Amino acid sequence: SELASRLKVTVTDVIKKLMMLGVMAAQHEVIDFDTASLVAMEYNAKIEKEVIVTIEEKLINDEDDDTADLQERSPVVVVMGHVDHGKTSLLDRIRNANVTSTEAGGITQHIGAYRAKVGDRYVTFLDTPGHEAFTSMRARGAAVTDIAVLVVAADDGIMPQTVEAINHAKAAGVSIIVAINKMDKPTANPDKVMQELTEYELVPEDWGGDVICVPVSAATGMGIDNLLEMITVVADVQELKANPKRLAKGTVVEARLDKGRGPVATLLVQNGTLHTGDVLIAGTSVGRVRQMINDRGQVVTEAGPSIPVEITGMAEVPAAGDTFNAVEDERLARELVEQRRQEQKEQQFKSYQKITLDNLFSQIAEGEMKELPIVVKADVQGSAEAVKQSLEKLSNEEVRVRVIHTGVGAINRSDVMLANASNAIIIGFNVRPDPVAKEDAAQEDVELRMYRIIYDAIDDVKDAMKGMLAPKT
Ligand code: GDP
Repeated sequence: SELASRLKVTVTDVIKKLMMLGVMAAQHEVIDFDTASLVAMEYNAKIEKEVIVTIEEKLINDEDDDTADLQERSPVVVVMGHVDHGKTSLLDRIRNANVTSTEAGGITQHIGAYRAKVGDRYVTFLDTPGHEAFTSMRARGAAVTDIAVLVVAADDGIMPQTVEAINHAKAAGVSIIVAINKMDKPTANPDKVMQELTEYELVPEDWGGDVICVPVSAATGMGIDNLLEMITVVADVQELKANPKRLAKGTVVEARLDKGRGPVATLLVQNGTLHTGDVLIAGTSVGRVRQMINDRGQVVTEAGPSIPVEITGMAEVPAAGDTFNAVEDERLARELVEQRRQEQKEQQFKSYQKITLDNLFSQIAEGEMKELPIVVKADVQGSAEAVKQSLEKLSNEEVRVRVIHTGVGAINRSDVMLANASNAIIIGFNVRPDPVAKEDAAQEDVELRMYRIIYDAIDDVKDAMKGMLAPKT
């Protein structure tokens, strides 16, 4: 009826024309654009698609920056590695070395990220060590880090979580710098570490590769300056730039409810400049920046690219990993938050398209999938490698099968987080998920597939790629 009124003809006329096209439509039925075009053509009318501007588009300026406005920004670094290899010690050492007692307000404040001075430049460190926080942020769509410092203890070498960290960093596409730590120990063996790195396609510069390895000691401070220097070298290659002149956007690094101050959030500005008084929208939280505190505990009124600040003034506690935007229109911001809340509610009912072997084929057919990422866990390294190789051989023109992580032992939380962030499926071979991983996988709709025989796993993936997988029994 709407089409009829716009064409200035009767509804019956339109229905008749539709019938001739083989479309049986009632008066208030919705027809698609192409069908409507055909009917319109019959009346020599031209139809055009209406461009619908969403609140999000109206509110949030997503235009590219003018290259003339771009300025260098500091790199953002995450520290990862096996437990007890010295991540926390390294972060503490760097933080403390950068605060002199003569400096005003020279007490470091733990806000979740801090800046270290390197010559006349800065490096921003995320203060939460480990790949879990990093990957859970990535699962929420946040890409905050430019460089991962992989800490490997020189007296211990590469351990399971080192491998996890390597694969998490690779999956996120960030550059890796290796800090070979605990060099003060008499049992330190950096050559062994470098040898082991090559097994994970990380070839040290000294050996003709492109991975920078820096021997350090978080205990004595040896090599730390060199490590910072190397971070700036890698950053230079990345040519990191941002536009300080636009409205701020970035990521929530941490957030909590403070008894006295209300919702408190640490924000990492990734582009633009954040000012006190700015209207902010982060996930489903909205508010005005009341006060900003930097990593030295000082009150500041603005924060530019790569600068972390703790802010108050949000109405609710946003989630770590949420992106935030400073916006001009507070009323519209509240509308958008309302809309996002509604969407969240709807999301809870329909689990959105996570990749599974069952829907793989339709996603390939729709051109949605160019790559099938897989995490492989097995009881022994040999089978993990064998499964990896056989799976990757299944790649064809439509879809590349890529094993993003292999490991030995039960499927753990880190595996599920990696799969979730990378939209991967997990294949277990003679192993089971631990209870936490099982729960997480169910919650996040990550597919876990367990096999006892390698060929069964290969066959299932092969069949799924052709859309011929038998339904799960
Ligand atoms: P994390 O689990 O990776 O965060 O490791 P920690 O920073 O907690 O360090 C684990 C242990 O190793 C602690 O007892 C540290 O004191 C010790 N440690 C860290 N770095 C060094 C180092 O460079 N030399 C020596 N000798 N011990 C270190």
